[in-house]
Amino acid sequence: MNVNRPYETAYAGMATFCRRPLVLDPAELTGVDVAILGAPIDEYVTYRPGARFGPRAIRQADYLGVMDQWWAMDVGLDPFDILNVVDHGDLAPIPGYPDESHVELRKMVTAVCAAGAVPIVLGGDHSIAHPDVGAVADHFSPSAVGLIHFDSHADDAWEDGYRNHGTPLRFLVDEGSVKGENIVQVGLRGYWPPQSDFEWARGQGFRWHLMDEIYERGIDDVITDVIEEMSGLEHVFLSVDIDVVDPGSAPGTGTPEPGGLLPRELLKTVRRLAKALPISGMEVVEVAPPYDSADVTALLANRCVLEALVGMSLRRTGREPVREPSNT
Ligand code: MN
Ligand code: MN
Repeated sequence: MNVNRPYETAYAGMATFCRRPLVLDPAELTGVDVAILGAPIDEYVTYRPGARFGPRAIRQADYLGVMDQWWAMDVGLDPFDILNVVDHGDLAPIPGYPDESHVELRKMVTAVCAAGAVPIVLGGDHSIAHPDVGAVADHFSPSAVGLIHFDSHADDAWEDGYRNHGTPLRFLVDEGSVKGENIVQVGLRGYWPPQSDFEWARGQGFRWHLMDEIYERGIDDVITDVIEEMSGLEHVFLSVDIDVVDPGSAPGTGTPEPGGLLPRELLKTVRRLAKALPISGMEVVEVAPPYDSADVTALLANRCVLEALVGMSLRRTGREPVREPSNT
């Protein structure tokens, strides 16, 4: 028996995202297309903590292990054949000092952008949108960056100037990183934030598609509008708060709001957006493993990133999806 054989299973060895190479030094990111990094910070939640354990859970939520192929059977390509994707490790958080952690995250994302790679950030609570979207916007020029924000919560609240995971969009707009007119929100529902925050957002030019609209029109029609609303922008940041999905399918999150998207709707939508639009940054946030059940939320977040990579691969190659033909 060869005890020195390489790990081939998903449950042994170090977990990087989809077993991609671990590249911690930003100087070694040259030539990398996508760098996946974790932001294990959750001090800014307003309800249940736990999202600091999100990045590790998302990396582990994968049963495939080492494979030569990641053939996406309903698209007809392997995203890792097209894109050079690495795992850039985690931000080293400073427990109890989230502002300092935010500063470090902004530096880390800035370095990824400077290397020419697209950052995909695994959260972490949604307050990290301020440093990570801000870093991408600063790198490219704020006027050119659009933000598509999937969430059950608008996260643009005025909370007497306080920072928390319900205020990052307010900070981004107020500091001029992203223009309100370049922000589109999808999946909002429930009872927060108050009407005064919608009035502010309307004045800033935000657009939003409530879950109620999605019930009536269907997700595909709504996303067609979202793509149109982002047209003309050179760079788009995709922010996915996992609580946009119904808590029946994504219970592992801190502020669950009933009545959300189906997992398949989110996955198909992320793939479609990443094919249609120039994605220059992405985050998947608010995965809180302590409340998860059978890892379903972490699995969904993992596949959400994978679908973005598949969509970016389609865009890069100019290919249309070719479904593996049925054998009937
Ligand atoms: Mn959020
Ligand atoms: Mn939310």
